[in-house]
Amino acid sequence: MVRLTRKVFADLAIWMIGFGLLMGTVFPFFVAAMGVPSSLVLTWWFFAACISAGIVVGAVNIGIARVVIGSRLRVLSQRMGMVETNLRDLARNGDLEKCTPQECFVEIDSEDELGESALAFNHLVEALTFAHQTEAAVRGFIEVLASQLELELLTNQALEQLIQHTGASAGAILVETDGELHVSASYGIKSPKKLAVNDHVRRALRVETRQVVSVPEDVVVQGVLADFRPREVIVAPLCYKHVPLGVLVLASVGSFSGEVRTRVDLFCQSLSLALNNALAHDRLQRLAAIDPLTGVYNRRFGMARLHEEFGRAVRQSIPLGVLMFDIDHFKGVNDTYGHLFGDRVLSRVGKLSRSVTREGDIIIRYGGEEFLAVLPAASREDVRDVGERLRRMVAEASVKDGDQSISVTISVGGTSYPEIDVEGEQELVKLADEALYSAKESGRNRVIVH
Ligand code: GH3
Ligand code: MG
Ligand code: MG
Repeated sequence: MVRLTRKVFADLAIWMIGFGLLMGTVFPFFVAAMGVPSSLVLTWWFFAACISAGIVVGAVNIGIARVVIGSRLRVLSQRMGMVETNLRDLARNGDLEKCTPQECFVEIDSEDELGESALAFNHLVEALTFAHQTEAAVRGFIEVLASQLELELLTNQALEQLIQHTGASAGAILVETDGELHVSASYGIKSPKKLAVNDHVRRALRVETRQVVSVPEDVVVQGVLADFRPREVIVAPLCYKHVPLGVLVLASVGSFSGEVRTRVDLFCQSLSLALNNALAHDRLQRLAAIDPLTGVYNRRFGMARLHEEFGRAVRQSIPLGVLMFDIDHFKGVNDTYGHLFGDRVLSRVGKLSRSVTREGDIIIRYGGEEFLAVLPAASREDVRDVGERLRRMVAEASVKDGDQSISVTISVGGTSYPEIDVEGEQELVKLADEALYSAKESGRNRVIVH
């Protein structure tokens, strides 16, 4: 339609009044054609009356249009203004909370173009709010990830956020270390360990693509997930530069919307990067702390841990046991079978000592073939038990050299604080060393606890 002015309602007014004018002009001829005497209708006063009526009808119409359509358009523009203000606030304080459906949505009360505009506007507000929520969630997620390098803490915090922002009811993050998948964090899952051998999880790692598994057609969660019956499970690989690092599993009682799936993809990208950093950090930590030959702590790192444990034992009044052990006649092993074979024996003793002790115990390669075991909460009797178990295991084990099978023995000395009162951890080590010396002196392959 031809535009006459820069205002739609002014254009409308011109068209309506103009049409009223036209009708007022034509009407007397129409009435005359209908048979009314021309002397009555083709008169100046009748023309004036018809034209006036046409103009009045046009003017009233424009007034009605302004009230009916204009009021709705005003609401729409008001809400648009509100959303705009919100968006400006958002840039300043990151808050789009004010745009609730009650605040920003337009009421849809007509089934026409105006209703469609209102609906489109509401959808726009919804999409904006969701985009903002996603952006805020990803920002918060990255902040959390960036502040954490410890693998377990990182995966736990990441999972908490993922569950919060996807509406999932349960989930787990599995991490691949030394070619094996381990559950690093889990929430609401009955037997998370089973996930590590699940086909879907292993496939996700191989094919590097996210899968959404619908339940019950699939058995992915059979006997694995918790007390609710999930409807959909997302299994997403966590890869950094095409190197598989782990898998994210999220289960929901409902189905995941397209937006949520996109959100999961965004989160996975940041999580993969953070996971890569945490794993690199973990490897560095291990390199700095672990003796590569025996797999136990090196002396520098181990003694620092002993210092911490002694402090904790004093503060919390709990015992702290230590064991010092040394391979008997090891020089002879080296001389007879060679240094490389001696290394294998050492590595074996390291492994055995780790298998005999508990999770919180600390094994340290103290010298060449001399080890120190720090046993939190162990009394002298516990120390003797652990020492004896270790002595027996080493004596019973054998290391093969070609056709020959060689066994070694160890001598063990131990003590425990506070049954033996000492000033510091160095004194505790010295006492264990003296006990070890006594074990050597009294014939080797034995345990002496002071
Ligand atoms: P004892 O029963 O009195 O302990 O006798 P021993 O022969 O074990 O004597 P000692 O503890 O003094 O000997 C330590 C030997 O351990 C000497 C050294 O060559 C060997 N050794 C130390 N570190 C390593 C290592 O990393 N690899 C190998 N193969 N041998 C080592
Ligand atoms: Mg020795
Ligand atoms: Mg020695």
